[in-house]
This record gives sequence, structure tokens and C-alpha cells, in this order.
Amino acid sequence: MPDHSDISGSSNGKADLIVRGNRVVTPDGERSASIHIRGGVIERISSFSDVPTATNIYEAGDFAVMPGLVDTHVHINEPGRTEWEGFFTATRAAAAGGITTLLEMPLNSIPATTTITAFRTKLAAAVGKLSVDTGFWGGVVPGNAHELLGLWEAGCFGFKCFLIDSGVPEFATVGEADLREALPILARVGAPLLGHCELPGPIIEAAKHLPNNASRTFYRTWLALRPRTAEHDAIELLSRLGAEFGARIHVVHLSSADAISQIHKSQAAGRQLTVETCPHYLTFASEDIPERATQFKCAPPIRERENRERLWEGLREGAIDMIATDHSPCPPELKRQDTGDFLDAWGGISSLQLSLPAVWTEAKRRGFSLTHLARWLCEAPARLAGLDQQKGAIAPGRDADLVVWNPDAGFRVDPAQLHHRHKLTPYAGRDLMGIVEATFLRGLKIYERGNFGAAPAGKVLLRGKR
Ligand SMILES: [Zn+2]
Repeated sequence: MPDHSDISGSSNGKADLIVRGNRVVTPDGERSASIHIRGGVIERISSFSDVPTATNIYEAGDFAVMPGLVDTHVHINEPGRTEWEGFFTATRAAAAGGITTLLEMPLNSIPATTTITAFRTKLAAAVGKLSVDTGFWGGVVPGNAHELLGLWEAGCFGFKCFLIDSGVPEFATVGEADLREALPILARVGAPLLGHCELPGPIIEAAKHLPNNASRTFYRTWLALRPRTAEHDAIELLSRLGAEFGARIHVVHLSSADAISQIHKSQAAGRQLTVETCPHYLTFASEDIPERATQFKCAPPIRERENRERLWEGLREGAIDMIATDHSPCPPELKRQDTGDFLDAWGGISSLQLSLPAVWTEAKRRGFSLTHLARWLCEAPARLAGLDQQKGAIAPGRDADLVVWNPDAGFRVDPAQLHHRHKLTPYAGRDLMGIVEATFLRGLKIYERGNFGAAPAGKVLLRGKR
């Protein structure tokens, strides 16, 4: 591997901390290096042995040193549904999982982040509880077009919308007419529109064809009710409107791999379309989901094994840009484990702390490298949020957000070890590869082997402010 020593300019004086190791994952690839950190920022990257005497050094040895993960799809639900999750528990789980930046979704909290007043309420609720840096998406709902510019200027990173029932009354579905009001505003300022891409039409149609005796405790009943075409039609609608208005469109949680060819075409035509998928779509297969196992329920649903394999191909080819968790927990009662009824259960999967090992376990099996992982879990999500000068890479000028982890060690998921408010997760009992040793946030060690820093060190991220 070429020696990139001192690619990053000169050092004036000594670093506060050097993190060095044999497997540092930089945008150029994996190599042995020293990361010089000053004032919470990566000052330079040098050769392994370029270490001034009497400097504070963290030796990562043969563990991987990667950028802290940036998870752009997290539901924290505070204020208003804090009994579902919360800033304190979610961001601790993130720190334990090597995630240093979260972007929080505008819905499931009450109020939803669709007005400037609601945004201020959310910011106030987050104060003092953040273990990692956290930014916020605003929401597009019917009738709030006049709020969008204010939300953007106040520091929201972009806007989420639902093309189908969101599951909560405070966050209403938008139709084409609503989007035609919102998109010119978003396009003017360059704000991305994040779409939950399922349209109701194909789902209503699927319900008509469901056999009368279909059991609500079988996963295949839920799967049949959320057909792939609902995703395809929604992606087509958003992609077309995005092109018409010159707006950036981001497809959240892509589940149907059949959409990949359509995504390729849109991207080839120069449309500003980015796509994320989630660890659960890349890990599980619908054929394996047991009866009554409602912890696997989410929308769009986990699909068949062959679909999962083609999602991996979509990542390989670049049609899918990134992976985010869509961590969306609820109190266990709402998962209806008592009845095992897939149609009654809340749709949302809890996984925040497990993102890195879940993705790595499956990626490694398919021959992917740590560089791929850093692209999907760090770089691309930082770019989506416009944080790519600040987060998402081990490079000079970026925040010194790092995860030191052992890619070669495995563990069995024990829910008791999870820091989420609720422990119910489809990953329980699963064997995963990759153990987080330590997490650094802006040069500060916030987590090491089960222990957290004394006080939550995360800050609220506002667009345009560093
Ligand atoms: Zn979500």
C-alpha cells in the first residue's frame, strides 16, 4: 500500500491525542496509520511511527479504526412517546454500537417536527441527554409548506414525508398535490426530501386478494399485504416529481430489490436520487421468520431470501448508497407478543446498537471489506445530511469521531447487554461478528468495553453550524 504520510498538511504543535493502529480505514483504504487529534478535530494522518514523544496515545493494535458511524434514520420518540425510547437511552446505545452521529426522524415524538415551535420543543427535550451528536430531520405534512423554510433555517437537515399511513396521527400522509407545494421550496435551498416509499393503491389491492383464512400470526400474511409494487410506484412518483422540480430525493429503507433497475435508470438520467436500505433487510429472510415473531415486523417488510441477496448486489453496484437502521422501537406490549398478531403489532425494528456487527457479519460473508462498510455506514450518510465536511471519514478537518472494533471476534446477542430502553429485538440470540472496543466523539472517549464517559458528551447538530 502506498505511504500517504503527512497527506494532510503540517502540524503546529502537538496533538491532544493520537489514535494509531494497523487497520485504520481512511477514504483511500485500510492502512497502518496515526490519527493526530487536536481540539476534537482530526489534524492530520501520518505514518504509524510518526508520534511525538510525550503524546497521549491510544493504541488500537490490530483492531479496526473506522469513522464513527452516521445513522441517518433513527426514531427516538422524545418528547411525547419517551416510554418508547428516548434521547438518553438511544444515544447511549449508539455510543456502545460505535455510532457517533444520529439524525432523528420527525415522527413518533409528540409534537412531530413539522413546525418551528415543535422543533424548538424537541431541541429543548434533547438537552443534557445526548451521548452522541444528534441532528434532526423536519417533516413535510399536508398544509405545512409555510413552515419548511423556517425549519431549514433553524437547522433541520432536510425533510421526511410519508406517502402512506405513518402509523401515528400527528404525521399525516402527503399526496402529489402536497409535494407540489413543498418541493419547489426544498429545491430552492437544496434540502433533501426523504420519502417513505409505499403507495396505498397496491396495498389496498393486495388486501382484497388475501384469502379469508389467512392467519394473522403468520409472517407471510403481513408480507402479502405489503407488495413490492407499492414501493416501486412510490419511488417512481417521488423520482418523477424530484426531477420536475430539481429537488434531491432520498428513498428511505428500500426493501424491494426489484426497484434497483428503476433506480439505476433514474440515476443514469441524472436525477438526484439516493437510496438507503437497512440491516434487517440485509440479514433476515421472510422464509425464516417464525409464527408470532412480531419483533420482525416493519414496513416495508423483510422480504424473501432471493430479494435479500439482490439488495446486496444493489449495494455492490452502487444503486443503493447507504445503510441506516430505521431503529423504531416501542414498548413490548405494542408488539403484541401475547397474541402474535402481525397485523395488530407496531411496525418497527429495534437495532440501533447492533448496526455495525449486523452489517459486518453479512458483508464479510459476501466478501466485502471494511472500506465498503465505511462508505455505506459513515461517508454516504454524512453526505446525505450535508455533514460531509464534518463527519463520516477519517480525514483532516473532520471531527475525530472514531470507532475502534474487533472485526474478527464474534458474540451472541444478549438483550440484557443492549442499552435501548426496550430489549425486544429480532437479533436476540443471533451470532454476530464484530465487537466494539471503544468509541471516540470529537476526540473524547465516550465508550470503552461496557463503560461510558462520566457525562453525556453529545451535542445538538444544527445545519450550517459547526
Ligand atoms: Zn423510519
